[in-house]
Amino acid sequence: MTYVVTEVCIGVKGEACMAVCPEFCIFSEPEDDMSFIDPARCTDCGACMEACVVNAIYPEDALPKASREFTHINASWFGHKTGVRARVREIAEEMGHFSPVKRK
Ligand code: SF4
Ligand code: SF4
Repeated sequence: MTYVVTEVCIGVKGEACMAVCPEFCIFSEPEDDMSFIDPARCTDCGACMEACVVNAIYPEDALPKASREFTHINASWFGHKTGVRARVREIAEEMGHFSPVKRK
C-alpha cells in the first residue's frame, strides 16, 4: 500500500510531512502546487499523516471517494510531472482557488 497526498495540500504545501518521512519519499518542486508521495518507497508508517496539520494525507485504502484520483496523481508525478501539474492546476481551479505558483 502507500499513503497519498490529496487535493487538501493544493496551495498549502509546506515541509512538515517531508521532515518526518523516514524514507525521504515525499517530494515537491517549485513548479508544484502540492506534494507527492512515491508509492514505490512509502513503507506505510503513517508519520506524514500525523504531521500534516490540514489532514491532506490518507492511507490509500482510506481515501475519501472524491480524492481517489490522487493515488494516480501521486504515483504519476514520478515520471510525468508536466501532465500531473496540469491536472493539479485544473483541480485547483475547480476548487475555486487560483494556483499559487506564478507561471509565465
Ligand atoms: S507513510 Fe511514512 S514512509 Fe510513507 S510517505 Fe508517509 S512518512 Fe513517508
Ligand atoms: S504537511 Fe500536508 S499540507 Fe504540508 S506539504 Fe505535506 S501534505 Fe501538504
